[in-house]
Amino acid sequence: MNPQKAKALYSLILPQGLVLGAIIFYLHFFATPKTVLLVAPIYSSVVLVAGVLLGWRFNRSRLVFSLLVLALSERGLFCLFHIQGINDVVKHTAFGSMALLLPVNFVLLSIMRERGIFTFTGLWRASVILLQVSLVVLIAYYHPEKVIVFFNYNLLSPRVLQCTPIPQSALIVIGLGLIFFLIRFRYKQKPMEIGFFWALFTAVIALSQNKERFVTVYFATAGLILVISLIETAHAMAYQDELTSLPGRRALKEYLLKLVSEYTIAMLDIDHFKKFNDTYGHNVGDQVLRMVASKLAAVSGGGKAFRYGGEEFTLVFSKKSLGETTPHLEDLRETVASSRFTIRGSKRPQKKPKTIIPVSGERKKLSVTVSIGVAVQKNNQKSAQVIKAADKALYRAKKSGRNQVST
Ligand code: GH3
Ligand code: MG
Ligand code: MG
Repeated sequence: MNPQKAKALYSLILPQGLVLGAIIFYLHFFATPKTVLLVAPIYSSVVLVAGVLLGWRFNRSRLVFSLLVLALSERGLFCLFHIQGINDVVKHTAFGSMALLLPVNFVLLSIMRERGIFTFTGLWRASVILLQVSLVVLIAYYHPEKVIVFFNYNLLSPRVLQCTPIPQSALIVIGLGLIFFLIRFRYKQKPMEIGFFWALFTAVIALSQNKERFVTVYFATAGLILVISLIETAHAMAYQDELTSLPGRRALKEYLLKLVSEYTIAMLDIDHFKKFNDTYGHNVGDQVLRMVASKLAAVSGGGKAFRYGGEEFTLVFSKKSLGETTPHLEDLRETVASSRFTIRGSKRPQKKPKTIIPVSGERKKLSVTVSIGVAVQKNNQKSAQVIKAADKALYRAKKSGRNQVST
């Protein structure tokens, strides 16, 4: 598996999937019913309060409204467990509607632009969510026969999906929602996208429980997953470079502190990048930076790439000597130099079309070269000194004509 795929798989599962796994493990193998009954309300209240406070502080209304959807679903299910004397058709209709509205709300919230909580748009969104509660109650009580047909419709034999009471029609919508989040993650790889996936998945587990205490714990876990995703987003904003998605200089500093000798540091700089920007514009420059960064992220030899700043990048090879590092840097230099970058013209669509129609002047193939300076850490040198030495080597590479690796 290539490093980028491994990284994508890692961020798909960690930490949200791990949190869910740990909760399932705890609930079903360790916790006694008494503990769960005691802990469930405290756990859900803490998640709700912490989530709302964080969402408000970071101005993330999507988190706050998603927590509202989860809290309403949890309370709704609580009512269905407790209210006596309602017939099965009403119960089934209300339950089916909840199971159907949850993924719809999550999908809509995930694509909505951030517009604040206590703003006109924010309050309008909150009202739409609350209005759905009245709508479900009204339909379930007064006209259940109108929607029950939909919830009784079975695509597969009812025996196939006996593990959940969720109607098959709602399960299809949930499945589509999960696929939607996975596709978004495939293209955006943002913690919040995968957070919505795991939160919806956890909410489905919550809806499938027949023990009330488990319902609360699973809904709270869905909320916790969203809260963790927000914290992950904040962490990524501090440590990751937005343009290239490579870790930034702060991450480099912390990474270097953890290293033990011997290691090598390579400083890499794009050649004549100013001219490139001046000729093709800043946007094309940005595209090139992203493409060079993707080559760096896939460097062989276990090198870890960082964006140092501007058009300069750093590669760190842990437990490698100069002799062991240089061949990988030569490979990288060659890969960049031989890559042809197709620039996006102003009319170029964001997505690759099925049939490509060549448009004159729209598709230009460009190439760039990079110069690399590398230094090894020796005599207990501090990392700042190794970076300085690598910078000097980079200067020599530039002086000697660029597009080369210098030690
Ligand atoms: P040399 O071969 O000596 O490195 O020449 P150079 O033109 O690459 O060097 P210089 O340091 O003078 O220019 C760096 C340029 O990189 C200047 C700046 O406009 C551009 N740059 C820095 N950061 C970004 C960015 O985020 N996006 C774009 N498009 N350009 C950037
Ligand atoms: Mg430079
Ligand atoms: Mg440069």
